[in-house]
Amino acid sequence: MLVSAKEMLVKAKAGKYAVGQFNINNLEWTKAILQTSQENNSPVILGVSEGAGKYMCGFKTVADMVKAMIDSLGITVPVAIHLDHGSYEGAKKAIEAGFSSVMFDGSKYAIDENIEKTKEIISIAHGKGISVEAEVGAIGGEEDGVIGGGEVADPDECKLIADLGVDMLAAGIGNIHGKYPANWAGLNFDVLAQIQEKTGIMPLVLHGGTGIPADMIKKAISLGVSKINVNTECQLAFADATRKYIEAGKDLEGKGFDPRKLLAPGFEAIKATVKEKMELFGSVDKA
Ligand SMILES: [Zn+2]
Repeated sequence: MLVSAKEMLVKAKAGKYAVGQFNINNLEWTKAILQTSQENNSPVILGVSEGAGKYMCGFKTVADMVKAMIDSLGITVPVAIHLDHGSYEGAKKAIEAGFSSVMFDGSKYAIDENIEKTKEIISIAHGKGISVEAEVGAIGGEEDGVIGGGEVADPDECKLIADLGVDMLAAGIGNIHGKYPANWAGLNFDVLAQIQEKTGIMPLVLHGGTGIPADMIKKAISLGVSKINVNTECQLAFADATRKYIEAGKDLEGKGFDPRKLLAPGFEAIKATVKEKMELFGSVDKA
């Protein structure tokens, strides 16, 4: 069932668990995540970056594929299709194409311009029942080619953006995209607690969920994080399983070169990763 991310995140915040956002790259990725959500009776958010959207022939192709797949696989758990780190123009295009949720990442703008543009996206999106995520302060690591440096958001700016009426708020608390360096300082829970205190019931979003230790994830959820983005971890699992298949020479045995066989171990690896995350986040049986 395609829905916005609003209700599932309000429920998650109240129930002290988090809904996973898993980014998709193609049909196999999407099918693996949808099936795992249904099998675990978990709500789910499918993340689509602007780059992945282009790769998959545009937002309309993605939205139509997800809708058709929900129907043909008989998916009854709540599913949101969410634009990840959308630009101002990208957010408008995703809304037009049938996404049920968008992130407008105005973190590159000065706070006044970020506020103006966020307000406009909220007004267009909410008119169509679409949820909106905003970001305060840049999140470290690589965001579609933009390298940031493990920043920590200002809790007062978070309150300012939250009060505009966004449905979920991403704030940097020392988290970064991609693989974490060996000397990573960990999440800043003091700042997270201050943000939660200032923004109240607002569901908070933790980007860069790959490689954050389980105890830190659980503590972040206890301090108001209700959505956790996982992208790199599924990519690593897929690549690892595919490499093993080829290194074992399985593509040279019989019809092992058939893409439906060649991609199967990677598909199963995505399913296992998503299931593990849903268990850690506490979203199993919360559909
Ligand atoms: Zn992100």
